[in-house]
Amino acid sequence: MKAAVLREFGKDMPIEDVTLDDPKDREVLIRITAAGVCHSDLSVARGKGSMPLPCILGHEAAGVIEKTGPGVSRVKKGDAVVLSWTPYCGNCFYCRAGLPAQCEAYNRAAGQGALFDGTGRLKSASGERIYHFTCQSSFAEYAVMPETGVLPIHKEIPATVAALVGCAVTTGYGAVVNDAQARPGEYLAIWGLGGVGISALMAARLCNAEVIVVVDPNPRKEEVARRFGATHYINPKTTEDVPAKIRELTQGRGVDAAFDCIGRQAAFEQGYNSIRPGGKLVIVGQAPRGDVFTIPAARAFPAVQKRILGSYYGGGIPEQDFLRILDLYRIGKLELDAMVGKTVPLPGVNDAFRELESGIDTRTVLVFN
Ligand SMILES: [Zn+2]
Ligand SMILES: [Zn+2]
Repeated sequence: MKAAVLREFGKDMPIEDVTLDDPKDREVLIRITAAGVCHSDLSVARGKGSMPLPCILGHEAAGVIEKTGPGVSRVKKGDAVVLSWTPYCGNCFYCRAGLPAQCEAYNRAAGQGALFDGTGRLKSASGERIYHFTCQSSFAEYAVMPETGVLPIHKEIPATVAALVGCAVTTGYGAVVNDAQARPGEYLAIWGLGGVGISALMAARLCNAEVIVVVDPNPRKEEVARRFGATHYINPKTTEDVPAKIRELTQGRGVDAAFDCIGRQAAFEQGYNSIRPGGKLVIVGQAPRGDVFTIPAARAFPAVQKRILGSYYGGGIPEQDFLRILDLYRIGKLELDAMVGKTVPLPGVNDAFRELESGIDTRTVLVFN
């Protein structure tokens, strides 16, 4: 099969012929139909993660089941599926605690660039091992992953939309619905309007928030923000005191919840200072390694009863959210089609990375025939 192989951080990924072994116990072989190009892939490609190389990125995808390994019961050949980037074992402490994204087996495997049995299924044409990324590696025509990494969906759902539900949409939607538990009439603010931020914005509108402020340094995002339901836009580059501006828009109180969808220290601090007493700062973005976020330790923190929450993959059970989100999409309550930007074939992935770095407004999705 053809795959984009990351061989050197910071360099383009060549499209290579790669071999993929058959699925083993409780694994499935998926023919990839669409794969979104996400900031998390870009960060790894630019050397900001700790992945062993060479590896195949891609963690936001949809596909069709091509073959099932022994013991698979969740899907059968021909099923259309959304891929998750946290397949889980179902037996560890975290799986039993309802936190499948923290699954010990998954985190061990993903850290080694392997699948759950500690081995890989990917090799280059010369027989050299290629590492898996998030047990998924969907910048490729096919992928093998544990069966808990796929969820069957309606065949009519466009693959491009299903792919985005596998990462950006669930991450942003869940931050608002699961972590902040937003309610009608609330005041919310969102930092960063990439795929995750737009998804959080759509969820905020769905929750009937009264005020939805978007903070993004790219002035082109104002129009995007308003199209997806923001009531106000703030450019932090041209606004001296962002929290003061937000208090002005919220009867002097601050927002009920602030969402960092950008992973920047300045956004964490502005978010913290923009929430009302008892409000929630929900941190979704992955900040660069070494970044530190400071808050006043004395008086301010306990006395104002603020809460700071880390939000990962939407904070719930991702596959339950996939189904809920796709139902909302089918009845017209979430306009996920509008999130899909360019669709390009696999070799377009390198340009898609460059466009992502320059702050493209919509999601580029790789499509496969
Ligand atoms: Zn992602
Ligand atoms: Zn587990």
